[in-house]
Amino acid sequence: EAKGAGRNTYRFYQRNMTAEAQKRLHTESSLRRAIDRKEFEVWYQPQFSLVDGAYLGAEALVRWRDPERGLIPPGDFIPLAERSGLVIPLGEQVLEQVGAAARRWLDEGLEIGRIGVNVAGPQIDRSDIVATLRAVIEHWRLPPSVFEIEITETVIMENPDHGRRVLNDIMALGITTAIDDFGTGYSSLAYLKRLPIGTIKLDRAFVNDLPDDPSDIAISRAVIALGHSLGFKVIAEGIETEAQRRFLREEGCDEGQGYLFARPMPAAEFGQWLRALSTLTS
Ligand code: C2E
Ligand code: MG
Ligand code: MG
Ligand code: MG
Repeated sequence: EAKGAGRNTYRFYQRNMTAEAQKRLHTESSLRRAIDRKEFEVWYQPQFSLVDGAYLGAEALVRWRDPERGLIPPGDFIPLAERSGLVIPLGEQVLEQVGAAARRWLDEGLEIGRIGVNVAGPQIDRSDIVATLRAVIEHWRLPPSVFEIEITETVIMENPDHGRRVLNDIMALGITTAIDDFGTGYSSLAYLKRLPIGTIKLDRAFVNDLPDDPSDIAISRAVIALGHSLGFKVIAEGIETEAQRRFLREEGCDEGQGYLFARPMPAAEFGQWLRALSTLTS
């Protein structure tokens, strides 16, 4: 009787689980398996000076190549990877791939600039990210300036003292740092000015409706002014139109990335892109 009720309750629960929750259950074990099987690819999106258009570097963006479902964007699995802690081994695979690719491109004589790598909360709080970075740099014999570490504003502000210590240690390795998705969280200005940060990344949400939306105009101006007055560079994400590029450039924004310039590319294609660039500029 009780057993039957339990079973019914269970069935009821299953039937009423949202599609979202079922997908999550399904995906957590498949995500773990995908990490074991190394099913992740790092794609690269170039970044440029808004002043003279020069190539400066690229952002590394992970994708999951699921044998059945095809290419899965990070927005569909990074949140789960963060909640489950799986982002720690996943992040190590990303750094390892970027390190290996950077070594190949440098051996070819290509100018790769800095490669921005996104690092999530659990990697800062529950793993030794500094030791991981040091190991990758040593293993691939890379100049530390090849890496730039991107951490969101929210992750830093959740535990500002720890965040500042980790950023300091990363900087001591010779690696630059950037605050990602700036403007979407709540930064304490008092903390911000004491952070060893090189760059602020203006979130795409504020770039989208430029140059027409009055509040996005106000926000992007304020972020550029704040960043510069604290001694940071400012890079805008998600530049899709010429009008956005022109507006941001006129407002003094230093750098940009977005579909207007280039989309994220698989490593092999990005290598070709770098080769083409080097014949253009040499
Ligand atoms: P993010 O770090 O803010 O990365 C920028 C996102 O904007 C990327 O999406 C990029 O493809 C997209 N983007 C760039 N230019 C444009 C544009 O002009 N228009 C539009 N509509 N989008 C543009 P993506 O690759 O889907 O990555 C989404 C997020 O997933 C990233 O946001 C980052 O938070 C996370 N992510 C990606 N790779 C990693 C990783 O290796 N580790 C961790 N922890 N998170 C990652
Ligand atoms: Mg980023
Ligand atoms: Mg961002
Ligand atoms: Mg973002």
